[in-house]
Amino acid sequence: MIPAAIRETISKALDIDPEQILEYPSSYVESGEGRFLLCKIADTKKILATGKGDFFSRLHGSYLAEAVKLCPLTHENRLILNKYLPFTLPSAFGRKTATFGVGDRLGLATPGHIRSFQNSRAKPVLAQQSKRELSLTGRSYEKVLDDVCFAVFQEGYRGGFGADGDHLKKPEDIVDALNCGYTMITLDCSDIIGRGIEGLSESEAEILYGDFPEEYRARIENAYLSKGFPIDGEECFFSRDDLIRCALIYSKAMDFVREIYFSYLKKADHPVDFELSIDETESVTTAQGHLFVAMELEYNNVEITSLAPRFIGEFQKGIDYIGDSGEFEMQLKQHAAIARRFGYKLSIHSGSDKFSVFPIIGKYTDGVLHVKTSGTSWLEAIRTIADKNPALYRKIHQKALEHFEESKVHYHVSGDPARVEDPMLRKDEALSGYLESDDSRQLLHITYGFVLEDADLKKEIYETLERYEDQYCERLVSHIGRHLKLINLSEE
Ligand code: ZN
Repeated sequence: MIPAAIRETISKALDIDPEQILEYPSSYVESGEGRFLLCKIADTKKILATGKGDFFSRLHGSYLAEAVKLCPLTHENRLILNKYLPFTLPSAFGRKTATFGVGDRLGLATPGHIRSFQNSRAKPVLAQQSKRELSLTGRSYEKVLDDVCFAVFQEGYRGGFGADGDHLKKPEDIVDALNCGYTMITLDCSDIIGRGIEGLSESEAEILYGDFPEEYRARIENAYLSKGFPIDGEECFFSRDDLIRCALIYSKAMDFVREIYFSYLKKADHPVDFELSIDETESVTTAQGHLFVAMELEYNNVEITSLAPRFIGEFQKGIDYIGDSGEFEMQLKQHAAIARRFGYKLSIHSGSDKFSVFPIIGKYTDGVLHVKTSGTSWLEAIRTIADKNPALYRKIHQKALEHFEESKVHYHVSGDPARVEDPMLRKDEALSGYLESDDSRQLLHITYGFVLEDADLKKEIYETLERYEDQYCERLVSHIGRHLKLINLSEE
């Protein structure tokens, strides 16, 4: 695709072999009088810009000849790309379109993610990072989105994608994500959701409830008691005790959501999907709890795009659902019906690898849902490393073992590394087997912060995955594709 004369110019100017100039043909685009192509030159990705015009001259880079420029993948250049190629900008998708979040801790997974969605009716949320993940990987909202935008350009992907500031708890983080152009905010209220309320006796709960202003109590009692709410063909009722407990658990959180919504979301200068997460709590969200939250949001004129309840059973990281799937089905059906009634999407967090319940999720949400996955793309990266660079895999495994206990502070897992065989005893070709067992999956899943903190390991991980870019991509397509298929989000 690169004309021979330009190839020669590059190779002469940089004193490199022409074979060290690789190109990504899908990225090729003409805009005005300029032509733009993503290349990998001596192992570094750059935009090759030729021609003239506004877009051409505004990109920062070094001239190799009068109309030939090589431009690095910097934040400044990403903003220029966004301006002239709007398909590289994230979008919001609203309440009716299925969306699927694919976190990428390394900034290398997006091409594989994009290809996973080729035959899907879900829109990918390609940038999705929580504050916790940012601090454990040493990245910023800006950097995460830069990586995604360049990958979208690389793939020539024009189908639209979202960018999610995930699990945010503080106004300043929301402002940060919005200023960086994120098109989805997931507000995490778990810190102000009432705790230990289920354990209170009826009279203890009644005493605490007495602290709410009389006007508030009168309003909610009038709104919720002595009437039924039709949910999925059945009437849902609140006993006085149910209502008191809902108020004790959610009322403060509702004030916080209202404040965030009107102070930040409504004032954003671009459309934003607003997700409310009440999933990271000890107590399972009941049908009454969900209904209470939905009705209070409506009362406060707060319009959310999606809501993530805490489901029954365990949604642990990187492994299948643990629990009674019959019970899960019954509750999911109610949650899906409540979400449908209020017009927003049900959101499933920690959605990586929940293969046994995906068909149930697909059935009741019927294409109106949001799913979040993240660690599973990291695990596919580790699987690629286990296949292609066994020595590096063993070092990662060792590092993970050293830091498993500390990492459990951030993640809820039940895996036990004591049950995992020493990788020194395994043959190279059997290393990827560690990605098949729950114990070692969780070991490798939650320790990424410590693995990436080691500068040498980090460098080698990036080098290996960049060298085996195609293999990593194929793994993701097959793995994320399996998620989409089982949730009934693929079109074949
Ligand atoms: Zn969550």
